[in-house]
Amino acid sequence: MTEGLRVCRKCLLRGETEAEYFRKLENYIARLDEDVRVEQEIYESRLEKCGQCINLTNGMCRLCGCYVELRAALKVRKCPDMDRKW
Ligand code: SF4
Repeated sequence: MTEGLRVCRKCLLRGETEAEYFRKLENYIARLDEDVRVEQEIYESRLEKCGQCINLTNGMCRLCGCYVELRAALKVRKCPDMDRKW
């Protein structure tokens, strides 16, 4: 195993650095069909709220386990908090 390489066996992220994984995630989000993706203004607003939330940890929401950049991009998703932030 490479020193410094983060591994998540459960999520099958073996062999990828966190930076590589986020680059792929960004590419995936950028290619989402506009039928499923929220408008950029809404996306930024959601991320701003996540950025100020105590449940955000390493880009993940502690309540749902999602990477918030992806969750916030999807029309069908909502903030999982009982007191919804978005
Ligand atoms: S999705 Fe909601 S609960 Fe999770 S980090 Fe964002 S604002 Fe917080």
